[in-house]
This record gives sequence, C-alpha cells and structure tokens, in this order.
Amino acid sequence: MSELNLIMLGPPGAGKGTQAKRLAKDFGLPHYATGDILRAAVDEGTELGRKAKPIMESGGLVPDEIIIGVIAERIASPEAADGFILDGFPRTIPQAEALGEQLERLERRIFAVLLIDAPDEEVVKRISGRRFSKETGQIYNVHFDPPKREGRCEVDGSELVQRDDDKPEVVRDRLATYHEQTTPLIEYYDERGLLRRFDGTRSPTEVHDHIRATLATLRLEEGL
Ligand code: AMP
Repeated sequence: MSELNLIMLGPPGAGKGTQAKRLAKDFGLPHYATGDILRAAVDEGTELGRKAKPIMESGGLVPDEIIIGVIAERIASPEAADGFILDGFPRTIPQAEALGEQLERLERRIFAVLLIDAPDEEVVKRISGRRFSKETGQIYNVHFDPPKREGRCEVDGSELVQRDDDKPEVVRDRLATYHEQTTPLIEYYDERGLLRRFDGTRSPTEVHDHIRATLATLRLEEGL
C-alpha cells in the first residue's frame, strides 16, 4: 500500500484547511499548511516572518525558494514517513516541480491531488465570515458555522479572530493571485492523472464524505 501523500488544491475559502484537518485526524497524518506556518513565523517575528509579512498583507505569494525550503524540511521529517497532507502548497508550477523532484529523490510519490473548488462570489462571502483561534487553529464562520459561544473557540474558549488577509481589500488580490499563479496546477496534475475534484459549495461533511469515498476507491484500485 502506498503512502497517503495528499495535496489540497483550490481557492482561498473553499474549505481546504477544514478538510485537511479532518483527513489528518482520520488517517493520523501530519498536516502542513504553509499559510499557518507563515502566520506563526510572522507572530514570532522570525526572519521568515519578517520577509513574509508585507507579501501576505498584499495578497501576493512569498518567493518560491523560501516556501520550498520550508516544506522540503517537513516532508523529509520522520513524522511524515507514512504520508502527509499539504495545504496551500504547491501554489505555483515551480513549487510543484520542486516538490516532484524532492519526492523522486526520496523515492516517494503523490497519492492524489484533491481540488476543492468554489466560485469567487461564494468564497468571498465565506471569507468575510471566517474566524479562527490562534490557540487551537479551529476555524469557524459567523454566517455558516458559528461557535456555540460568540467569539470563543469551542475547544478551549480561546478568542476567535479574523485573519488580516481575510479583509475584503486583500481577498480580491488573493483571488487574483490564485487565478493567475495557482490554477495552472489544475491542468498540471490532471495531465499526470492525480487530480480529483470536489464541490466546495457542499457542506463540510458532504465534502469530507466524498473525499473519503474517493480515497477508499483509489486505494482499492491500487490493490488490483
Ligand atoms: P493561506 O492561509 O493558504 O491562504 O496563505 C496565506 C498567505 O500565505 C498567502 O496569501 C501567501 O501570501 C502566503 N502563502 C501561503 N502558502 C504559500 C505558498 N505555497 N507559496 C507562496 N506563498 C504562500
């Protein structure tokens, strides 16, 4: 049985993070979200964080070589030996190529690329309501999935905040960046037979069920 090396692809706000967390729990795999890694670096004020901050605030992408290094280290770590879930990486063709080369060197391969898609109007609406806890990483939506107690995480009661780049003026630029730089990856992975599509406008549970069923089928087919 091959390793469950998964890539989450799709526009901001389509539900990649939510699904990645569920899959990480289901399969006991590490979840590497480059956005979370960069936000933590910004909060800690590390060199990486200082470089990334202005770029993230503008809705652009941090340089490929920086982010490739961040991910390469994690993939090679012992905790990722049985598989990993990449969320927010790769985001450009050069990043996808670097990942492919690294995996080849390690004699590993991508199991599937899960595209969670949703139209721009829908993701803009969702992002405006998105709140998260810096303590637990738990994500809520004040419109669609509010916490039981307003402004508080259900796991530990920590404060829920909005990401700086979830403000409307940055969201438009993030979407433009996605369409320009990341959508070419859809064709790139489709040509390699790795792409699986999911309807991000469905409820998180429906999307999760669909992904689980698809992965189960892929694993069965692999065993044939
Ligand atoms: P996310 O949480 O995935 O929406 O990422 C937040 C921001 O982090 C993005 O808008 C980018 O500025 C930066 N970022 C995250 N992942 C990458 C990546 N793979 N390549 C370049 N920049 C990234």
